[in-house]
Amino acid sequence: MEQSGDKLVNCSCCKGNACYESEFTTEEGKIKTWLCMTCGFTTNSTMTEDSEALNKTLELTADLIKDLRQNYDGLAWFPTAITMPDKGMIFPEPVKGTSTLEGKQDWQWTVVKAIDIPEEEQEKYPDPRNPGTFYEKRMDMKNLKRFNKLSFMDAAEELGMFEKPTTPVYNIPKKIGKSGEFGTSSISGK
Ligand SMILES: [Zn+2]
Repeated sequence: MEQSGDKLVNCSCCKGNACYESEFTTEEGKIKTWLCMTCGFTTNSTMTEDSEALNKTLELTADLIKDLRQNYDGLAWFPTAITMPDKGMIFPEPVKGTSTLEGKQDWQWTVVKAIDIPEEEQEKYPDPRNPGTFYEKRMDMKNLKRFNKLSFMDAAEELGMFEKPTTPVYNIPKKIGKSGEFGTSSISGK
């Protein structure tokens, strides 16, 4: 896979001018991805109506994210959810006690940071994918930071996303909370 042509374009969702456009060459051809640094919405050129990519995303995605879907130029946009195991997570989360005009709960960005697990406690956190090994970091769910809908950039900065400018893994949480169960969807090709 080859990445080329990163640039900032105008966002279809919030009309801001900080939407990050990237182009990848995969076995199936060129894929373009967009991630807006203002509103945090993302899509890619495979997310067309009735496409396999869109159906898979809908299958793996939490209801809140599905509810926030927007459509522009034949592509479905969703708020992103990012997991960086060494740094933490960003995901959209409903805010208790709020209500939008449609009668739904309003939402904000939540940032959870990864923290070190003390060595003597690591045995409590076995890594299911690598039997016999243990996690060294865990998500600090007790210390959440919230950011406004149009402050995705601040949330990303809080997480330290820009310290290493590579393509993040796009994880879409199916269930947010204690269980730590996640559906994973990679948009970067095979
Ligand atoms: Zn935007």
